[in-house]
Amino acid sequence: MPLATPNPDFVPTPTAAPSHPAAGWAQGYATLGEDFVATLTPSPLPAPYWVAGNRALGQQLGLDPQWQSSDDMLALLTGNAAPPGGEQTASVYSGHQFGVWAGQLGDGRACSLGELGGQEIQLKGAGPTPFSRRGDGRAVLRSSIREFLCSEAMHGLGIPTTRALCITGSDAPVWREERETAAVVTRVAPSFVRFGHFEHFSHHQHPAQLKVLADYVIDRFYPACRSPGDQPYVALLTAVTARTADMVAQWQTVGFCHGVMNTDNMSILGLTLDYGPFQFLDAYDPTHICNHSDSQGRYAFYKQPNVAYWNLFCLGQALLPLIGEQEEAIAALETYKSLYPAALAARMAAKLGFASAHENQRALIETLLKLLAQEKVDFTIFWRRLSHWAADMDLADTRVQDVFVDREAAGQWLADFRTLHRQTGHGGSGAVSVRMLRTNPKFALRNHLGELAIRAAKEKDFSIVQQLHAVLADPFAEHPTHEAWAGFAPDWAGSIEISCSS
Ligand code: AMP
Ligand code: MG
Repeated sequence: MPLATPNPDFVPTPTAAPSHPAAGWAQGYATLGEDFVATLTPSPLPAPYWVAGNRALGQQLGLDPQWQSSDDMLALLTGNAAPPGGEQTASVYSGHQFGVWAGQLGDGRACSLGELGGQEIQLKGAGPTPFSRRGDGRAVLRSSIREFLCSEAMHGLGIPTTRALCITGSDAPVWREERETAAVVTRVAPSFVRFGHFEHFSHHQHPAQLKVLADYVIDRFYPACRSPGDQPYVALLTAVTARTADMVAQWQTVGFCHGVMNTDNMSILGLTLDYGPFQFLDAYDPTHICNHSDSQGRYAFYKQPNVAYWNLFCLGQALLPLIGEQEEAIAALETYKSLYPAALAARMAAKLGFASAHENQRALIETLLKLLAQEKVDFTIFWRRLSHWAADMDLADTRVQDVFVDREAAGQWLADFRTLHRQTGHGGSGAVSVRMLRTNPKFALRNHLGELAIRAAKEKDFSIVQQLHAVLADPFAEHPTHEAWAGFAPDWAGSIEISCSS
């Protein structure tokens, strides 16, 4: 079942404009009214052009097949024209940033166009909103390419995420550490509601609005929370806890480091949200901090599961006025303590080619992770090579051992891995390997690959963005013409610094 299961009873009200390449807009979150969203007019960008597009997603949204050659769409998705019949809005939220209450934030550079096919369509970088504070409301080409590619890379990996439809660009200057150029990413999700939306109304003591928000989320996305016998808001907290646990378990098993797990970047639907200073690990280093602005290492890779739990407590605190009994909220949150390890164990079992998780895999996994960390082994390459080797575990294939310095320790681990598979009746079976090759990707959006796409795009060559997008959309396939993108990171990758500045 898809993670964000829409309520079948929900009927959007279309505002039809059949001649436009994107017809059938509906208002979603904006129907909650002015306590929740502010209407706005995006600031046009001069002479926009297409940078990248996602044909498959366009098709899912029911866009005209020619949308990528439509000037109407280029204008619409740059914020230079209004959606036919629709209203543009920014939503208000608050949140905890780096563990500290940050007060009111809100969509400072995201503008919602409404919904198409039950999916909210947001422009990121289309100019200031009433919540921009001191920001310019813009996004630069560099970070927009990273967001576009990573959204679709996560989707390709089967990890719940917001999606990206396209990037448009303009030569208009945007100032960060240096002069860059503007871009707008069109992102797509059933909802962009964050933990921070709940924190906003709770902290500012607006219980009526808090209830409206919770009811909206439940009715549209978590209808099962209204099952007889359930307290709906406790059920909501329990459901969000479960989705978040599973999402973070998936991050940990592909080496994804989010970088800014503030509560305003946590999706109420358990989607990976807000791609800023994220990174896929090259070498396996659990202490890795991908965000150059995170001087304390709050969001280091190994801390992500605990941070998610901390963030869920913020959500629980925000829902307390609706839940009533603190014990009930705590009981809901405590499910994380068993759900996260169970989700992680299931994902690790799959990576190792076992049909299901079992206690007898624990030592194997612990030894492996220790070894990978000690030797800073390339995470993606190790798993992929292991997956190939699993086809015939008697073969003296050295490719797995080659990624270790301590080949003896690696050899011993491989022998233990083979023994456990033999005990479960799967030793050296092609079926195990096939399963592992569908679980352990060949390609990840490593920092240096994003950087190659960005450097070319700055010279107006968008072909690498498009090719990377195609490869990452199916990272389990071999893509023999792009073998180089499956290799080790070059030395210069270590000098790429990614901060919150985007
Ligand atoms: P982030 O760290 O990207 O999650 O952003 C935190 C908050 O700052 C959110 O409310 C964003 O909307 C806002 N923000 C980030 N960058 C800008 C910008 N360039 N202009 C306006 N608001 C921004
Ligand atoms: Mg954010």
